[in-house]
Amino acid sequence: MKGKKPTGAYCLGIESTADDFSVGLSSFDGEILANVVDAYVPPEGGIHPREAARHHAEVAGMVLEAALKTSGLGPKDLSLIAFSLGPGLGPCLRTGATVARGLASYLHVPLVGVNHCVAHIEIGKLEAAAKDPVTLYVSGGNTIVAAYDSGRYRVFGETLDIALGNCLDVFAREAGLRQKLGLPFGAVVERLAGEGGELISLPYSVKGMDLSLSGLLTAAVCLMRSGRHRLEDVCYSLQETAFSMVTEVTERALAHTEKDEVLLTGGVAANKRLQMMIGSMAKDHDASFKPVPGRFAIDNGAMVAWTGVLAYTHGVETPVESSAVKLRWRLDEVEIPWMQ
Ligand code: AMP
Ligand code: MG
Repeated sequence: MKGKKPTGAYCLGIESTADDFSVGLSSFDGEILANVVDAYVPPEGGIHPREAARHHAEVAGMVLEAALKTSGLGPKDLSLIAFSLGPGLGPCLRTGATVARGLASYLHVPLVGVNHCVAHIEIGKLEAAAKDPVTLYVSGGNTIVAAYDSGRYRVFGETLDIALGNCLDVFAREAGLRQKLGLPFGAVVERLAGEGGELISLPYSVKGMDLSLSGLLTAAVCLMRSGRHRLEDVCYSLQETAFSMVTEVTERALAHTEKDEVLLTGGVAANKRLQMMIGSMAKDHDASFKPVPGRFAIDNGAMVAWTGVLAYTHGVETPVESSAVKLRWRLDEVEIPWMQ
């Protein structure tokens, strides 16, 4: 790795864009020493930004301590503090940023704000050993097909409305499902879908390279409420339809860019059926399929720490006085000097 490398080179990364508060530790060589995640689970309904931020403030100290303990590092070993600068929910982002600024100032080490979507791609590349993939990034807040070109990760396609994870989560809540055994809603839908098999026709909406999921969600909820079909079959049909849409867009980006790797990252990447569909599409194009390992699929601090290392060692720094969070910071606005 080129660029500056301070002594005792470890970076602490803080993730707090939405429901998860996480602290990860990475060496400057990409060894992940800790990755502690504490998720906010709302008592009912979706994530309320201020309630999630309150959770983050409450658990920050404990998560920080747990991550340091796991890594065996002490505060003096830290040479860099990274945090998710955006995109995300304002109160949640600000809570993480406040912790990061405090740590950097107290320890007299540099601060670097990283783009959350870039971090998902970088941890995927690191942990799934991908070099220059087409990435399908699917999570609770994002649904993006991207690939590197001329200094940036270019967005080839994205959702025009809600994210894939959000679509599954809202459906699950409307169906009265519960997050049993700490399973995320998407995983609960996945389990039920595994017991279904009848494919019921639902709106399939790919528009050019983009896609739309809100009509599909509404139709799936109506179908579920009609009581005419087994819930398992509705879950199965919802998954098949939504996953086919993201697979189609990813396939087109792969054909266009002629890259030879497909990276699947973000919380929904844990889904086995989606992995199967993207994997088989990649195989058809003689591309290798690289799913990010489960613990790095969801929002996590390790991805922020590692992306902080990449950014800082290539000249990016975020002085405290200009570290205001960016709620709508698009992936394709970020320069990626380490890929050049
Ligand atoms: P993230 O936003 O990256 O933290 O990911 C959280 C999202 O991933 C939520 O929408 C979850 O429901 C979803 N998710 C987690 N596990 C699975 C799974 N096995 N299948 C589908 N979605 C999942
Ligand atoms: Mg999350």
